[in-house]
Amino acid sequence: MYHRLHHKIMHLVRLLQLLKIRKCTFLFIIFTSFCLMVILISRSSNLFDEDREIKLRKIDELIKTQASSLACKQPNLPVNSPEMMKFVHSVPKIDCSKAGDDWVKCVGSVCSIQENANIKYGPIKCTFADVIRLDDFKNVHGEPQEASTYTLRKSDVVHVSCESSTKKWIATLTGIRKDEIVWNGANWDNLPPNALKMDVLMFGFDSLSRNTFIRKLPKSYEYLTEELEGDVLKGYNIVGDGTPQALIPILTGKTELELPDTRKRIKNTKFVNSYPFIWNDYKDAGYVTAFLEDVPELGTFTYRLNGFDEPPTDHYMRPYYLENYKGRSRWPKLCTGEIPRHKVMLNTIRDIFAVYKTKPKFLFGFHGELSHDDYNLIGVADDDLLEFLKELNESGALNNSILILMADHGHRFAEIRNTVQGKQEERLPFFSFTFPRWFKEKHADIYENFRNNIDRLTTPFDVHATLKAVLNPRNVGVADISQRAVSLFSRIPEARSCAHAYIEPHWCACLDWHEIPTTDPIVERLGETLLDTINKITSDYRQLCEPLVIANFQWVTKMSPNNNLLRFNKNADLDGFVADLSANMNVKNDMYQLKVMMKPGNSLFEASITHNLNTDTMQLKLGDISRINMYGRQARCIENDLPQLRKYCYCRDDIKWRQYVSYQFLDAEMTLGRIVCCEVKCIQKTVLSVLKSDM
Ligand SMILES: [Zn+2]
Repeated sequence: MYHRLHHKIMHLVRLLQLLKIRKCTFLFIIFTSFCLMVILISRSSNLFDEDREIKLRKIDELIKTQASSLACKQPNLPVNSPEMMKFVHSVPKIDCSKAGDDWVKCVGSVCSIQENANIKYGPIKCTFADVIRLDDFKNVHGEPQEASTYTLRKSDVVHVSCESSTKKWIATLTGIRKDEIVWNGANWDNLPPNALKMDVLMFGFDSLSRNTFIRKLPKSYEYLTEELEGDVLKGYNIVGDGTPQALIPILTGKTELELPDTRKRIKNTKFVNSYPFIWNDYKDAGYVTAFLEDVPELGTFTYRLNGFDEPPTDHYMRPYYLENYKGRSRWPKLCTGEIPRHKVMLNTIRDIFAVYKTKPKFLFGFHGELSHDDYNLIGVADDDLLEFLKELNESGALNNSILILMADHGHRFAEIRNTVQGKQEERLPFFSFTFPRWFKEKHADIYENFRNNIDRLTTPFDVHATLKAVLNPRNVGVADISQRAVSLFSRIPEARSCAHAYIEPHWCACLDWHEIPTTDPIVERLGETLLDTINKITSDYRQLCEPLVIANFQWVTKMSPNNNLLRFNKNADLDGFVADLSANMNVKNDMYQLKVMMKPGNSLFEASITHNLNTDTMQLKLGDISRINMYGRQARCIENDLPQLRKYCYCRDDIKWRQYVSYQFLDAEMTLGRIVCCEVKCIQKTVLSVLKSDM
């Protein structure tokens, strides 16, 4: 018994000892792992920081050493090119009729039951619950209150639940809450004395190149450019891949790498409130601010980044879209209640303009749902966008506004990126500024510079500098292109290159160009193409216009998309900081520019000619030919009847005139010019007889 007990005790002691050892080992392992983790975490966060700096340095070097530090020459990208038109087709309009009429609508801060619904469905009872934002990913509902008219005070968003004796109607609605602090804080008095004192309305679509905008939104484009006399930037070039890479530089003047790390997948990174957003400058200057963005699951600042902790602007539509997204299955496709979803944002912008009519406003609306994943769907918004622009204009909202209608980048689908023009269009998003007429007169110097810049290389950094300049216009002379960001109110020199503008080579749509010797065999073909085109224009008037021949080539340059653009395949990392340049794309067209002197008359022409390498044919449009020296009297025989031929016609009479002039008076052209004006016919006869008698 004792033996057994002793044995048991010894066993326990051994077990305890064993356990003790194991405990120590266990504790040791935990301690070591903890230390290791601390070391790893601190090292890895250093690594990430280092990583950012290394990436930034590499980008800097790449930009500085790029071959395309030549003055930017824009590619010629026809809107109707077959290569692109194969992606274009029309899409049926959005039909929301199945949703029936809305029972409740909000205008400004007031949401009320609609008379029509009361008539149709009998007495209706509704409860309203404020939708309160907790953060960028969560809302809560306030206490539901029964009412027939409800005023928004705590939030712009309200959850409405209604019922009649036979039917229910539930919706999330948005309006402009009555907020004394916002209202009283907004006034024009805080602005610096030289500020332009104008509202700013930026409204953009995701993934629309300049050409796609023209193709898919033709009515809005026409109204914008013709009626509102808006100016479209033809050389606006992206500076990175994707929405944040476009919007961050516009809104902060910096790239993501230059700002605090706000990436979701890296621990202990900051909220994007840490960015110096331009709307903060406007807020400080006394503006009411608003940021409106749809598609909450792909938010620019919330998809890959941490989002905002505090709301970024006075009015912020994310809580609405987050809430509305949850209930979207209630409605027909792309609708919310009786209207297409894209109209909600347009209506909100209109509402903000109505509510804050006399207050300074800075609005940025960005719509992605229609255009982000589909090349053609955006076409359904053309009529609504047109109506929106017309209403803004007719209501007087644009009288004191700078309207910036824009996009972040072009389409990025693989099949479009597989074409050279698609790649180029991706890099050239739609970007336009519309100024009121009085502005163009009052600030003629600024506007003249801006007009000059529509053909220059411009970037999101410049838009940021311009937005700053609206609050405080400075340097309205020639832009200093040694700075990467220049205000569009200053005059950008033609010499600006992608290197000046801080554009990495694979994002640079400017063509690489170099002069080729005039002995190159292609030069003769280019000359023939130009000559044939010009002589064809005058061929029906051969009795009046001399056929031209080439006197000499002044210069010929060959232009092609830069190599890195052609080699760009996709991003090599999750954040879009590094490019994978493994694509191997062949150019289908070479572009040439040439300057040629023709005779008789020593006329100088410049032209852009496209050499289609597949068909080995030359393409030259009349619009691509410019006559760059004066034609004076050379075209006098047709100048009244056929003024469109003046550039191309050398009057046959003129040859005899010149022979006569040089023969008789040598230097008497001016005198003769005057006689010719008075008595053309009589003088012509005299000259002809003189010439004949000389023979
Ligand atoms: Zn985008």
